[in-house]
Amino acid sequence: MLKLSNIHTYYGNIHALKGIDIEVEEGEVISLIGANGAGKSTTLMTTSGIVPAQKGTIELNGEDITYLSPDNIVKKGICQVPEGRRIFPYLTVAENLDMGAFLRNDNDKIKQDLSYVYELFPILANRRNQAGGTLSGGEQQMLAISRALMSRPKILLLDEPSLGLAPIVVKQIFSIIEKINQENKTTIFIVEQNANLALKAAHRGYVMETGRITMTDTGANLLANEDVKKAYLGI
Ligand code: ATP
Repeated sequence: MLKLSNIHTYYGNIHALKGIDIEVEEGEVISLIGANGAGKSTTLMTTSGIVPAQKGTIELNGEDITYLSPDNIVKKGICQVPEGRRIFPYLTVAENLDMGAFLRNDNDKIKQDLSYVYELFPILANRRNQAGGTLSGGEQQMLAISRALMSRPKILLLDEPSLGLAPIVVKQIFSIIEKINQENKTTIFIVEQNANLALKAAHRGYVMETGRITMTDTGANLLANEDVKKAYLGI
């Protein structure tokens, strides 16, 4: 469904991605793990067109989307939930969710999707009139994921969904990510430092080191891999 081939991305002179190959099949959850600065966020930002690739190709269902603008990539159904969440702090929860659906005009389905995200995250329903910026970190992450779901994405890109959250909230968010994948067949590409949870939730995973993919396998095999255990699972 999504195919990155030999992707090179630079920030000025910094060669952040040095020939990345990643494939995400329809309906899969894929996790990309790696240390700080490995290039995980850059991989997502290149996929969503925010930091364009200098070399290589990105295809969505066979169509070359490498040089599309970020808004056109969103229109193709790739929706990124950025690191640090970036919800609209002065808009209410309900208004934030409306913004997620701004490219759509199928009002009946928008209503259905709104009920669905309120079902997934009942706390958001309770807080629907509260300003986004006054939510807790975990609630803001839930809102950011829900806002992305309101665009009915084909692929959801999640950048560090666990960042800065308490372990219990992280677990809750990962279990809902799995639920979203199972119930809607939404394809999900997660970038995470919490390798343990990310690989548990994933069908397949990729390991990244200083701009290169160094390993790929099923989530279960990577969790059992001695090198992965030592480097990323603290075992
Ligand atoms: P983290 O888990 O810490 O967010 P990451 O794996 O997501 O790390 P990236 O943020 O993709 O890593 O960074 C990859 C490399 O690119 C790093 O060396 C980083 O310093 C560099 N980099 C990232 N953003 C920029 C930028 N805006 N300008 C210059 N260099 C950047």
